[in-house]
Amino acid sequence: MDFRKLYYSLADLLLPRMCNGCGCRLALGEELVCTKCMLTMPVEHKHDWRYNRHANDWAGHEGLAGVGAYTRYTHDGIAAHIIHNLKYYRHTALGPWMGRQAAQQLRATGLFDGAEAIVPLPLAPQRHRRRGFNQSELIAQGMAEVLQLPIVTTLLRRTGAFESQTHFSYAQRLENAREAFSLNPDVHPDEYAGRHFILVDDVMTTGATMLSAITAIEQIPDTRFTAFCWAWVYKS
Ligand SMILES: [Zn+2]
Repeated sequence: MDFRKLYYSLADLLLPRMCNGCGCRLALGEELVCTKCMLTMPVEHKHDWRYNRHANDWAGHEGLAGVGAYTRYTHDGIAAHIIHNLKYYRHTALGPWMGRQAAQQLRATGLFDGAEAIVPLPLAPQRHRRRGFNQSELIAQGMAEVLQLPIVTTLLRRTGAFESQTHFSYAQRLENAREAFSLNPDVHPDEYAGRHFILVDDVMTTGATMLSAITAIEQIPDTRFTAFCWAWVYKS
């Protein structure tokens, strides 16, 4: 056993690392999420991108190049635990890891083909300050690494009043669907004309948040966009 392995074995013994999907103890060599979770977490296929309700409902948006997700969100499922650990337990290393996983697995499917930049959906400034990070931006960082694309955080801003979301389901609260987006007033839409962006959000339930971002980015002339969320509540 080399020294590095020994060190990690001892560290694991003293401070066991837990799987962010199921809470079990991670084995040596496992990173953030255990092998069993990785194997049981479903990865979405092309078929699901084309024939889901969002793709259908948004078909009238001319610039829409595609709609896709990495995995499915189910109540108490692995994806729900991972997102919860990222957002509320602040395991910020999860964000880039999630983005890398998604981009590595989906790159070959063509979902991201032609994209020139990644636009993580922003949080409202107060929420961003309070949380200290934007989970969608962290996911975007991992995607950017794999896809070799720049991240643009100045295009969109989040508007709309904060509302108590206690009457929403847990998944809907994760989506923060009551807020809306607009183009940043400092942005000259013509500067970005004709570009293809990947809009990135962590979780999609009703799709209202993503649709709002789409409506904002459509103000850029001839823009194209791929709507991507890490996990979605699948609607056939
Ligand atoms: Zn696990």
